[in-house]
Amino acid sequence: MFFKDNIYKRIYKKIKEYDKIVIARHVGADPDALASSIALRDVIINTFPDKKVYTIGFPASRFKYIGILDKLPEKVDDALLIVTDTPDYKRIDGANPRDFAYSIKIDHHPFVEKTCDLEWIDDKASSASQMIIELIFNTKLVMTKEAAEKLYIGVVADTNRFLFYYTTPKTFGIMARLIADTNIDITGLYESLYMRSLKEKKFQSYIVDNFKVSENGLAYILVEDEALSKYDVDAATARNMVSEFNYIDEILVWAIFTVDKQNNNIRGSIRSRGPIINEVASKYNGGGHIYASGARVANSEELEKLVADLDKECFDYKAKEKQD
Ligand code: AMP
Repeated sequence: MFFKDNIYKRIYKKIKEYDKIVIARHVGADPDALASSIALRDVIINTFPDKKVYTIGFPASRFKYIGILDKLPEKVDDALLIVTDTPDYKRIDGANPRDFAYSIKIDHHPFVEKTCDLEWIDDKASSASQMIIELIFNTKLVMTKEAAEKLYIGVVADTNRFLFYYTTPKTFGIMARLIADTNIDITGLYESLYMRSLKEKKFQSYIVDNFKVSENGLAYILVEDEALSKYDVDAATARNMVSEFNYIDEILVWAIFTVDKQNNNIRGSIRSRGPIINEVASKYNGGGHIYASGARVANSEELEKLVADLDKECFDYKAKEKQD
């Protein structure tokens, strides 16, 4: 009888076939993007010590505890590219799938466009890290304790400690097995992910104090450079703080914006606990998940438009809730 190879086997076969493998992820690295790509490299090397495996992308200093990155090798037309956590071409950090002999996408974002020869997309997965664990559990790839630690961090960060709706029984099942199999110290891992300086905690209060909150439940702030220096935080850390403001009664959608001087625009991280936000974000050079998105606007006029669109989503959501 003919059994169609499952996706795990198809990916494993390609990993086995290529001696040179490059792993990439999205720009603006976050713990899930870093953990999924770095842990996959380490597990492939652990399983096939003779292969040359590189994880590339611009480093993020505040997440350096997740692991080190490599330089893209000079010649890649004989290599396999695996892209984790990235739905579209423009967000792949430092590699073009077309330059490689073969390419694979492993991603949990809603589909945006086909970028790779083989694509495993599961937008019900909590994180790309969860998908990498699943891949390892279902193939002959051999997990290491260090990789398990990174992947645990990736899942915890992307689910915000299992708070988000895409934390499913499958997520808990996979995490339970990961902990049981590798005996990782999860409390120690939380420390690296959640330890903050007092100044940074005070900055959190600054954000709450300075959020502009609309009647419809939109909260947003454009953090000026003065505030960043006063509280000694960088722009990426400020935006990353967006996860801290869930479950505020009056707030349905919230966003933190910072000025990107280098690119002469304004970047934002947006979160929601009801209204769908990724469609609005995609109109403003952005995208992401239905309740977790990012966007880039050219100036404060465009920022106002984005804010108005998000506010409308809140209004419509509330109106619909009243009807139901
Ligand atoms: P962030 O707010 O940067 O944590 O991003 C939240 C989600 O939105 C992640 O899945 C990102 O990959 C995605 N995202 C962030 N910025 C953009 C952007 N400019 N374009 C498309 N997706 C984005």
